[in-house]
Amino acid sequence: MNLIFLGAPGAGKGTQSVAVAEILNIPHISTGDIFRYNIKEGTPLGKEADSYISKGQLVPDDLTVSIVVDRLNKDDCKDGFILDGFPRTIYQAEALDKFMASVDKKIDYAVNIQVDEDSLVDRLSKRRFCPACSGTFHVDYTPLTSDDCPTCGAKLIQRKDDTPEVIKERLETYHEKTAPLTDYYSEKGCLLNVEGVPGIEKSLKNTLTALGIEK
Ligand code: AMP
Repeated sequence: MNLIFLGAPGAGKGTQSVAVAEILNIPHISTGDIFRYNIKEGTPLGKEADSYISKGQLVPDDLTVSIVVDRLNKDDCKDGFILDGFPRTIYQAEALDKFMASVDKKIDYAVNIQVDEDSLVDRLSKRRFCPACSGTFHVDYTPLTSDDCPTCGAKLIQRKDDTPEVIKERLETYHEKTAPLTDYYSEKGCLLNVEGVPGIEKSLKNTLTALGIEK
């Protein structure tokens, strides 16, 4: 299956898409993770991406599209993939469609995780991130006894873009540039709206049911 996960920052698309990718045994591709890795490594891509990400803005379309196309051309994507956080603009969605058509494939479903605005701000400001394994934990839902990652033991951090000013900017960017993608995929007949309720298990169940996947 070739899947896209849509949803506002904080909707839980990262956590859910990782879980679905594991169940389907297909690669999980997160543009945010690719940028964060490059920022950590101090690459030229990381330096450029950081100048946008730290302000809550989107990384330019052409740069982002070329990274994703390179990744989708890899062998492990030939039997399916999950894109998490891409596309984020109509331009990116059209570029993705062009790429998919060129390899005689299509996006099967765009899963749109819906969460109300107050919960988004709460989730973003209370989440902790593991720079080693990319795990994300909400302090109200994961009983963290220390600042060590419950999965791999590395030190958890608060993402630089999870601060109140940057959260505000990211949500504005989402409404302006990314939210129109739900109409885009609805018109193509592949949009699946899923209620992003609190708790990973419940949300995941909603997503799997929408996709017709039995766990
Ligand atoms: P995420 O981890 O998906 O929340 O992404 C973190 C940040 O990376 C976003 O707020 C953007 O600044 C940038 N980013 C991730 N994916 C994209 C994309 N598809 N297009 C442009 N910028 C992106």
